[in-house]
Amino acid sequence: MDDHTLQHGLPETVHSLSPATEAHPWPRQAEVEAFFGPVGGGQAPLLLPFPLRLAWETTRLVPRISLHRKVHASAARCFEQIAAAYDADARHELGLDLFGGSFNVRKMRGGERWSLHAWGIAIDFDPLRNNLRSTHATARLAHPDCEAFWQIWEREGWISLGRSRDYDWMHVQAARL
Ligand SMILES: [Zn+2]
Repeated sequence: MDDHTLQHGLPETVHSLSPATEAHPWPRQAEVEAFFGPVGGGQAPLLLPFPLRLAWETTRLVPRISLHRKVHASAARCFEQIAAAYDADARHELGLDLFGGSFNVRKMRGGERWSLHAWGIAIDFDPLRNNLRSTHATARLAHPDCEAFWQIWEREGWISLGRSRDYDWMHVQAARL
């Protein structure tokens, strides 16, 4: 459902890893395996402060999602803050309670590299209104009433591909671009 093949053109030195810090708690995408370990491992269930609804079957509630242990506490803080910032009606209207996936061992669309979802370090929200080709002009999550939602994630160092690259607005990840 998403694709993280768009890369900026900054020069990289192959052996100079940029370690996670307090200001930037997550590794760069190229370093996720070194930081999180092999794909498919390190998972822990996160019980959510409010149930999500499965985006493609909205009558199905999702009380917990699977995430990597290293992002678990951070994501828990984000969901608590989302619950405080948006009531159930607002979450419903903005699509903040529509779950499009977290942990899923798969490759990026049209590529050989692993999706960040394969480590359980990315979460998709409301994929039907924020698809891979969405832009700030079309994505529901690009509306001003979603600003607080994104700031909550960004304060924890998570990256929105929509806000950073203006595509795949459903997607937030615990890895730097
Ligand atoms: Zn995604």
